[in-house]
Amino acid sequence: MSLTHDQIIEHLQQIVGADRVVTDARTLQLNSVDNFRKLQNIFDVHTLPSPVAIVQVRTTAEAAAVLAFADAHRVNVVSKTGGTATEGGLEIHDDNSIVLDGGTMREIISIDPYNMQATVQCGVPLQELEDRVREHGLTTGHSPQSKPIASMGGLVATRSIGQFSTLYGGIEDMVVGCEVVFPGGKVARIKNVPRRAAGPDIRHIVIGNEGALCFISEVTVKLFPYMPENHVFLGWTLPRMTTGFEALREVMVAGYKPSVARLYDFEDGQLHFSHFAEPDECVLLFMAEGNAGITKATAEGIRELVAKYPECTPVDPTLIEEWFNDLVWGPDKVLREDERIRTTRNVNRTTEISADWSSINDIYEAVIPRIRAEINGITLLGGHSSHSYINGTNMYFNYFFDLIDCEPQEETEKYYLPIISIIVEETLRFGGSIVHHHGIGKARAPWVREEYGTSFPMLEALKHAFDPNGIMNMGTVIPR
Ligand SMILES: Cc1cc2nc3c(=O)[nH]c(=O)nc-3n(C[C@H](O)[C@H](O)[C@H](O)COP(=O)(O)OP(=O)(O)OC[C@H]3O[C@@H](n4cnc5c(N)ncnc54)[C@H](O)[C@@H]3O)c2cc1C
Repeated sequence: MSLTHDQIIEHLQQIVGADRVVTDARTLQLNSVDNFRKLQNIFDVHTLPSPVAIVQVRTTAEAAAVLAFADAHRVNVVSKTGGTATEGGLEIHDDNSIVLDGGTMREIISIDPYNMQATVQCGVPLQELEDRVREHGLTTGHSPQSKPIASMGGLVATRSIGQFSTLYGGIEDMVVGCEVVFPGGKVARIKNVPRRAAGPDIRHIVIGNEGALCFISEVTVKLFPYMPENHVFLGWTLPRMTTGFEALREVMVAGYKPSVARLYDFEDGQLHFSHFAEPDECVLLFMAEGNAGITKATAEGIRELVAKYPECTPVDPTLIEEWFNDLVWGPDKVLREDERIRTTRNVNRTTEISADWSSINDIYEAVIPRIRAEINGITLLGGHSSHSYINGTNMYFNYFFDLIDCEPQEETEKYYLPIISIIVEETLRFGGSIVHHHGIGKARAPWVREEYGTSFPMLEALKHAFDPNGIMNMGTVIPR
């Protein structure tokens, strides 16, 4: 027989102490959604069940005890660290849910400049780790725009990626080892070694699991030398996205590793570059970093390659540097944006996908006119490529719309999901991936079967093996 809410709270209090089990109704309500249904918090119109409690753990042992309890009594567990999720991974869909809050596990356990790695508890915000390693002249190389708030557990759980990915890679290239807790309370540690060929790389069962398989308690990541004195910024305006994709591709295929490589279409570009780009111009930009010789060669090589495209007009590099210095989203910027939405009822949303070089422009050209034709109230629609690889790139669609004949709590169903559907349909049609870096969450879980195709049973098998009672973030990654 399932426990009552009071009994669940009582058990949790016995594990961590009453002061770390949050039960006040307002906080619980705010934790029923994440950024996927952020209008519910902005306009205070909640439609989903609240969690029974938020349990703030400080140690792996406490997390293990909570997961043992939850598994024994079939209580759904939504793991959380920074709370910046954008895809509904933190949404509560089941009345019998608790939030396992690792945001209180905030110890930087070690910084090892000799072996170039750092070990942290899951709740350490990336910015805090970055500031600490900078004192040693080092960097994590990870810089998602949410880095002041997003924390190491969540960053690993979502397979996040940062602005400097073309040089340092995504989080999957940075994680050396980790410690995780499975439902039932079993703790597993994946040791820290530079590489091993002892069977499959089981780090990848943890990275990107979105709290659907295990709770990530500790993470070890690589460190890199930080040499800001060598940073070089490069930028061009250009008339067409196709030219930009070609130039980006050539840079990647030639083997250059700029830390930033981006291509903005004209409408998205106007949000950042209207002081130098005309309203019908795209913007191509790069940043090179690292030691002096590599940086110089990278910048020279890119300049040479882009010079082959006479329609690309160089931009003063200080303008690119200024843009770069204002990229990160801290709590102030988030609050300002929430206030803008509250007062204007004009909503900004994004969706990111990836595809190979042959398909990316086709997807872009298929998606943009469909959204314009099928969705009412669009006030801005564009996109940019911000993470490139030798075999392809991503597209980050950025769109604003007015809520027309739509209450804020209906926004997800009336606007966001129909737009995501168009992007997903076109991406799947051209063979791309429906998620480049935000995770599947509950938002894109309905398409996960098509995303995986014949490999979907492998994903299902992992879920059954590691979470046989289905208590880990129900409906996330795999739909209910
Ligand atoms: C303004 C803004 C900018 C952003 N920019 C970027 C960007 O540049 N790049 C990028 O990749 N993403 C970006 N994101 C998305 C988001 O920041 C990332 O997905 C981030 O990795 C989430 O980390 P978090 O600590 O906030 O996790 P949370 O929001 O707490 O959780 C995210 C997901 O991970 C699970 N989870 C959290 N902690 C754990 C844990 N310890 N163990 C197991 N599962 C866990 C949760 O259940 C949830 O499904 C942005 C979001 C915002 C709001």
